[in-house]
Amino acid sequence: MKSLQKIGVVLTIIGLVIFTVLPFIGNYRLDEVTTIAVTKDIHSEAMVEILSPMFGKVYSSNTSFISSFKEYFNTYNEALKDNQEWDKVIWDNYAFPITKAASIGPVVDNPLLYLSLSIGLTILGGLLYILPLYRDEPAGIKNDGIFFSSMMARGWLGMITGTYLILFYIVLYWFPEYITNLVLMVDPISHFLSGGPASQWFLYGFIYSFAILVMGLRMFRKYKGNNYQLIRTTSVMFFQLSFAFILPEILVLFNKPWHDFKNIWPLDYSFFYEYRLDGMINSGALGMFMLILGILLIVVGVPLFTYLYGKRWYCSWVCGCGGLAETLGDPYRQLSDKSVKSWKIERYLIHSVLVFAVVMTGLTITNYFMSFELLGQATDQLHSIYGFAIGSLFAGVVGTGFYPFMGNRVWCRFGCPLAAYLGLVQRFKSRFRITTNGGQCISCGNCSTYCEMGIDVRWYAQRGQNIVRSSCVGCGVCSAVCPRGVLKLENGKEEGRINDMPIIIGNDSVKAKI
Ligand code: SF4
Ligand code: SF4
Repeated sequence: MKSLQKIGVVLTIIGLVIFTVLPFIGNYRLDEVTTIAVTKDIHSEAMVEILSPMFGKVYSSNTSFISSFKEYFNTYNEALKDNQEWDKVIWDNYAFPITKAASIGPVVDNPLLYLSLSIGLTILGGLLYILPLYRDEPAGIKNDGIFFSSMMARGWLGMITGTYLILFYIVLYWFPEYITNLVLMVDPISHFLSGGPASQWFLYGFIYSFAILVMGLRMFRKYKGNNYQLIRTTSVMFFQLSFAFILPEILVLFNKPWHDFKNIWPLDYSFFYEYRLDGMINSGALGMFMLILGILLIVVGVPLFTYLYGKRWYCSWVCGCGGLAETLGDPYRQLSDKSVKSWKIERYLIHSVLVFAVVMTGLTITNYFMSFELLGQATDQLHSIYGFAIGSLFAGVVGTGFYPFMGNRVWCRFGCPLAAYLGLVQRFKSRFRITTNGGQCISCGNCSTYCEMGIDVRWYAQRGQNIVRSSCVGCGVCSAVCPRGVLKLENGKEEGRINDMPIIIGNDSVKAKI
């Protein structure tokens, strides 16, 4: 390791330590004006009454502030519930906005300084480590020693990284009030882009985008000389930064609904929820454009582009989840399970999620157009279950937190309902396939090892069989790591695309004459 890279590692560790410690520094003080400013008009009076014992007190940590807040807030709500005064119960969760507004620590005074010391140092350290990688070496993908790496082969570094990611996602989804200092750091950027304060989702989008950008640069170094990988990586970096991060914030600046134009239902599972439909319908021509484009993408875009190019057009070139998997997750792609058992679980699981999403959406739309006479608010329960189990737990906690344990495409392979839809089209009606020049295969197994979707590519290559699998995201890494040029990602005529050849014997197989 060059000395510049060693400095990079040290800076990254320092940045991460500061990022981890920041939520625990600073003081908290609440007053009436702040309480009224962050609560809805209908709750202001009650919230002032509930929280008045906290006014003026200085809390030395967020834990003591939040526990005090919850004590007063829950006592009020529980009493109403006991008396069955349901209309007076405050269902909104004010823990995050109140804690954020009550912060009086150093982060509030110098948000950009702390942003530079935490995320900024991590990015700088990452760049110092990444940019010298493979310099003065010939093009060619090097995975030397990967199975001896503590970080990339489920060693202690990998375990710590995975656990850290899992904990971060749990706090982000269910306890954001504990990371208000981190959100305060990005407030100035949020004000600049959207004119409003940052939420935990803005912080997440910020970190997510920079993770893709920095690790995308690592992809440029690692896969130099392979144009497919370079262009594909540029594409996911572009779509994340522009479509998923900057553009939605600019929409908010112009009083339009936050909208990621490239996010397609059923991955974007709330697209047909009442508040989203109302938001789009009430936003004039642009809102109607969002609605019509969203529906066109589902009905025409997905089948057409998948017919022409396979699911790779979305999963490996456009999607944010795929973008993170292909950049931040690339060091873990070899950890995917290649067993037939996994393949079976994958098919049951991913199609079950698709069915769940379709049924939930069908009921939601029907209920919406029947003015909620069909199921009343019952669809809200379904939304909560899906949002918790699939949207947060599966896609977030497991989807990313499990990179160092189960590879980088856990969500895309086992859970994403859009991947299931794209996969059905790819399997049964597409021009995409990976062709194999079986006579050249030396059975080294590189392709299977680095297939992030757990496809046993070698099995197909050995018998000269085209690879037509619904799960293949067309990342092209199997082809890139093959030392014999056996594999080629192609779009061609449908005829002869699926060529089952049961006997292993070069390109021509064996023809039995009876
Ligand atoms: S088969 Fe090849 S292109 Fe398809 S997902 Fe696996 S590595 Fe990527
Ligand atoms: S990487 Fe190439 S040579 Fe090695 S098993 Fe796969 S197809 Fe065969």
